[in-house]
Amino acid sequence: MARYTQAKCKLCRREGQKLFLKGDRCYTDKCAYEKRPYAPGHSGRMRKKMSDYAIQLREKQKVRRMYGVLEGQFRKYYERADAMKGVTGHNLLFLLERRLDNVIYRLGFANSRDQARQMVRHGMFVMNGRRVSIPSMMVKPGDAIEVREESRKVPVIMEAQEVIARRGCPEWLESDGANFKGTVKALPSREDIQFPINEQLIVELYSK
Ligand code: SF4
Repeated sequence: MARYTQAKCKLCRREGQKLFLKGDRCYTDKCAYEKRPYAPGHSGRMRKKMSDYAIQLREKQKVRRMYGVLEGQFRKYYERADAMKGVTGHNLLFLLERRLDNVIYRLGFANSRDQARQMVRHGMFVMNGRRVSIPSMMVKPGDAIEVREESRKVPVIMEAQEVIARRGCPEWLESDGANFKGTVKALPSREDIQFPINEQLIVELYSK
């Protein structure tokens, strides 16, 4: 499947915000956005007045890039969110949060969603006792995720406890890094998504 493969740091600079796409590096002074907090290219430093449409588009791109989802897929998540009961913007974020690759990242078993996606594709996890390899799978309350025996020596997995101590684990998940396990305790709530996102802008963009 086609996927954005250019320098990830450029995406953060383009969106004017740290998107935490490179794991631990994002928390150090090597972060490219910390060094150059402006868009890449010749006119990157110029302040431009943005139209409402451009602001909405940038917000959508930011969230899409953060979760590593392609445009068509993102649109489908929106349509699904719109058909659900409740607030469409919240539903959209909940669907993205419930993706298996995001959950692996949130549980501390990967340094980034990108890495989590690759690990899932390589079949490094089991869910409810069955091997899983589809990063977009949706988790639900009660699901139990475990690292497969053969994959427990992978450094990033062995460091999961440290990662969680540093990054924290959202309330709706429970991470048991020492036993290579994680559990989905509940559905995510809006408060669980602490990254600054204005999902209403995305709803406005797609409702045109
Ligand atoms: Fe973004 Fe900084 Fe991480 Fe690069 S290192 S992906 S600029 S947060």
